[in-house]
Amino acid sequence: MAGLTIDMARKSFGATEVLKGVSIDVADGEFAVIVGPSGCGKSTLLRAVAGLEELDGGRIVIGVRDVTGLAPSERGIAMVFQSYALYPHLSVRENMAFGLRIAKADKAEIARQVQRAAQILNIEGLLDRKPAALSGGQRQRVAIGRAIVRQPQIFLFDEPLSNLDADLRVRMRYEFAKLHRQLGTTTLYVTHDQVEAMTLADRIIVLRDGRIEQVGSPRMLYERPANIFVAQFLGTPR
Ligand code: ADP
Ligand code: MG
Repeated sequence: MAGLTIDMARKSFGATEVLKGVSIDVADGEFAVIVGPSGCGKSTLLRAVAGLEELDGGRIVIGVRDVTGLAPSERGIAMVFQSYALYPHLSVRENMAFGLRIAKADKAEIARQVQRAAQILNIEGLLDRKPAALSGGQRQRVAIGRAIVRQPQIFLFDEPLSNLDADLRVRMRYEFAKLHRQLGTTTLYVTHDQVEAMTLADRIIVLRDGRIEQVGSPRMLYERPANIFVAQFLGTPR
């Protein structure tokens, strides 16, 4: 287990500065949620933590390990995207095993991890199906399962529920909470859904236009928003 430190992350695309010096500390075992409007840099930040996007400045530290220059596979991170990005031609079992197979884990260990993740997510009966034969919620579970089997030090979730209908979104929210109670993995979770943030977060980070507006517990942000933007975004009546 390990915490995550993002230290003064900067990133531009051409002339557009998307991350303007973002620093976030996620404690070991903490569930931190980033909220902010569309285009404020949430996905870019997560992709940079995962190593899918190179920063122009700043550092990413996991535990005591500076991973800034490392390849995604060397970071001990697993990321779940909004589009689940499952391989359509592979079964659920194979989709979940894929990362471990690439990492050349041995067969018995892969089978053990897939079984364990399937059990946690209640998808043991789906292991031989192809993604096309799954519902949205089931696909979402498989995508999470693929992250779990790798036993990462850090989970990154980028709006994992935004493609689901409202009912399922509420149910899956509880699944995330349960998953976190069970595994305790340090988590950075992005959403633009205020209720999701309030329900899941130990701490909420409000991002606006590539900068952090405020960081605090859901209760603190609700009761003492630093400014009108935070107040409006987290729905404080005032
Ligand atoms: P969010 O996830 O908060 O909606 P993003 O991180 O996806 O925001 O995007 C932030 C800004 O960066 C947006 O203006 C977006 O258009 C821009 N952007 C993201 N990725 C790229 C890219 N690969 N090339 C150019 N611009 C990008
Ligand atoms: Mg995004």
